[in-house]
Amino acid sequence: RATLGVLGGGQLGRMFVHAAQRLGYFTAVLEPDAQSPAGLVSHHHIQSGYDDPAGLAQLAQRCQAITTEFENVPAQTLQTLALARPVAPSAAVVGIAQNRIEEKAHFTVCADVSGVSCAPYAVIETPDQLRAVQVERADLLPGILKTARMGYDGKGQVRVRTTVELAAAWAELGGVACVLEKMLPLTAECSVLVARGWDGQVVSFAPQRNVHVDGILAVTHAHEGNMPPALATRARDAAVSIAQHLGYVGVLCVEFFVVDDGSESGGLVVNEMAPRPHNSGHYTLDACDASQFDLQVHAMAGLPLPKPRQHSPAIMLNLLGEVWFDASGGRREPDWPAVLSLPGTHLHLYGKLDARVGRKMGHLTITGPDVAGVKTVARSAAVLLGLPGLDAI
Ligand code: ATP
Ligand code: MG
Ligand code: MG
Repeated sequence: RATLGVLGGGQLGRMFVHAAQRLGYFTAVLEPDAQSPAGLVSHHHIQSGYDDPAGLAQLAQRCQAITTEFENVPAQTLQTLALARPVAPSAAVVGIAQNRIEEKAHFTVCADVSGVSCAPYAVIETPDQLRAVQVERADLLPGILKTARMGYDGKGQVRVRTTVELAAAWAELGGVACVLEKMLPLTAECSVLVARGWDGQVVSFAPQRNVHVDGILAVTHAHEGNMPPALATRARDAAVSIAQHLGYVGVLCVEFFVVDDGSESGGLVVNEMAPRPHNSGHYTLDACDASQFDLQVHAMAGLPLPKPRQHSPAIMLNLLGEVWFDASGGRREPDWPAVLSLPGTHLHLYGKLDARVGRKMGHLTITGPDVAGVKTVARSAAVLLGLPGLDAI
């Protein structure tokens, strides 16, 4: 039987492994940690660093095709593997998605075709550029200074109001390459999942609306009425054109901001992209006839891409480590029997042994025959688990 390989052992790798195994594939996970969510469920766990030649050689030798679940895998690693096996997505596109400077340049280049731009921004890589921005780009304040590389879940970001705060923030971030982005008055956020095959076949999911708390995804709404239909169509088309323009292969998630521009449906601004399945797409496991992970398996294995059909409205609640602690900071086991006695609840836990604040431990998807019922159950589950973002459900 064929083996599919994945770089990274987190929950995205774990759900990829589940999808691959359902189709009868063996799987190999390359991950340094001995107790990772994906390593624990894979046929083969190659315990090695992402740039260790021996580990990479072993992965290439075992696998028919290789993908990544870890956004910050060294681009060189993907290049090395691509000499031996098909790798999707490619080192080139992962390199773009890993670096906000290149990512925004790409969004700008394809703005004509995608019809959406990113937030006004400036690149700050040197003290001279910092001074130039302080003098010439007052229009970007108040803004958010973001490191070009390695940021996620709002880490590596500082909100700044003045040029003095900007200089302090750049120093705080270590003087590394950054972008300063204008702070936009968001009315909503959404994301779109696109899957593209080696042959250029493209399928996509309807946009989901996302609610973040403290920079981390808290709630995803995937149902009729989650945003104006005209906006949904524009976001979906834009994400597809961005994937096509990249020559992307695999599953890509594009995040958008919705801003009040005076129009009826609101203005759309592209934020960033993730070269892999995405937390906001986890609802597809329970609410669609093909999940984002099924599509990732199909894309990399060169199988036809089924056009996914959502059969139920859904709301996803992220379960962070906080849920495992009571008000006084003591460890507790969440009341799963109470949660699971609510209709249409689908609990996913990633097999992580230690709960920490802000750590993604699992998610709960609620599906049902109608949106109102799904919202009612989601609210009850959020109350039972003490989850944030309740007023957004
Ligand atoms: P992820 O975990 O999604 O990769 P990240 O750390 O890469 O997150 P961003 O998506 O850039 O960070 O920003 C995190 C959140 O901060 C956004 O979802 C949004 O809520 C807010 N935010 C980011 N940039 C802006 C902006 N220019 N204007 C207003 N809000 C913003
Ligand atoms: Mg990001
Ligand atoms: Mg983001």
